[in-house]
Amino acid sequence: MRKQAEGKKPARRKPAAHSTRRPEHAARSGQKPEQRQPAAGFAVQRPRSERCPYSRKCGGCQLQNLEYPDQLRWKQRLIERLIGRFCSVAPILGMDEPYHYRCKVQAAFGVVRGKFVCGIYQSSTHHIIPVDHCRIEDENAGRIIADIRALLPKFHIVPYNEDTQRGVLRHVLVRRGYATGRYLVALVTGTPVLPAKNNFIRALLKLHPEITTVVLNINRKRTSMVLGDEEQTLYGPGTIEDELCGLRFRISASSFYQVNPVQTERLYRAAIEMAQLTGTETVLDAYCGVGTIGLAASAKAGKVIGVELNPAAARDAAENARRNGVKNARFYAGDAGEFLRETAGAGEKIDVVLMDPPRAGSSREFLAAVCQAAPSRVVYISCNPETQARDLAYLTSHGYRAERAQPVDMFPWTHHCENIVSLTRRETGAGQRA
Ligand code: SAH
Repeated sequence: MRKQAEGKKPARRKPAAHSTRRPEHAARSGQKPEQRQPAAGFAVQRPRSERCPYSRKCGGCQLQNLEYPDQLRWKQRLIERLIGRFCSVAPILGMDEPYHYRCKVQAAFGVVRGKFVCGIYQSSTHHIIPVDHCRIEDENAGRIIADIRALLPKFHIVPYNEDTQRGVLRHVLVRRGYATGRYLVALVTGTPVLPAKNNFIRALLKLHPEITTVVLNINRKRTSMVLGDEEQTLYGPGTIEDELCGLRFRISASSFYQVNPVQTERLYRAAIEMAQLTGTETVLDAYCGVGTIGLAASAKAGKVIGVELNPAAARDAAENARRNGVKNARFYAGDAGEFLRETAGAGEKIDVVLMDPPRAGSSREFLAAVCQAAPSRVVYISCNPETQARDLAYLTSHGYRAERAQPVDMFPWTHHCENIVSLTRRETGAGQRA
């Protein structure tokens, strides 16, 4: 759910993926007071000695002072408070092992007092805090990043200096294909020239043969985005693959892909179950990213139509359909609201809408188009229960009834909470639709 422009700078410590939506991009200044002090009302506070030593400077894991079961209780209450007025809320699906779940890891590189360092940006600043060990990130990705830092001097690769705009390496992004155990490394540089690149990559692969592709991403701008627009493949195919719900997905450095694959499967399975498909329905996968949810639902649907604003992601979705031999899914690039309005206007009958919008929630145009298209069922997946509550208020006053909410903990230790709500169309009279 989540989206492109992977990674603003302070993102390394936070959840998910695409700039328009994932919680990692939430503006700190926009946090609600309750979110700034999430532990209020919980008696059991974790001792300071057990908390992450970087947590105060990093700011990515806001629930450090709560034990994991209390974090789940806190999120359950949050969803009950925001969504409970529309429908019943099922118990949150938590993780058995809420550590090292992030399969996408980013580190900033710099020089501090003459030493090459890598780590995270201190909350709201560009000061790099060296981090040796993060409790929520994939451990091996952390080792790859540490080894890259250790190799730099030997190959005369100097980290980039933002003030002087000299030097080379700005960031490293590592993605793990969770099911395949393969790694993609993106070296983000300020210039297209990476000194001794072949020897450097050879040395890195010797230490980490699990790396199956290395890309060079060039970001010349003074920007808070990690990735630039130019990319060259230095080694391997330039993409890695992962498996979700029995399907294989191709992932590139810049495409959106959920960061917590274990919980993503549970999220998708719960959403598809809530859609109650019987094998005949026409399903709209709105805000579809690379097509993951729609493709996972395709075996239980008559037909899947996906729509996604980012053309590259829409192309990936079509390619993922092809690679998985899914013949009943079509993907389109465009605005979800416009697309649904036109589709409904052209007389295409949509039976079920699966919607997974960015953090800002859905647009009024899309919601109005849903009501016009009148699918019998809507399943709304959200990573921001506040905008979800706003959109539910619209749908429930325009012909829909919320049935059930299912929170899923995609981002343990942070205050972000994913939630699914199923809605059905209310009948207003003998066979007549509201
Ligand atoms: N369902 C996908 C992606 C969800 S993230 C998954 O689970 O991976 C939300 C997606 O909505 C992003 O890919 C973003 O590019 C897309 N998006 C944002 N605004 C949109 C709009 N107006 N119309 C269609 N898609 C949009």
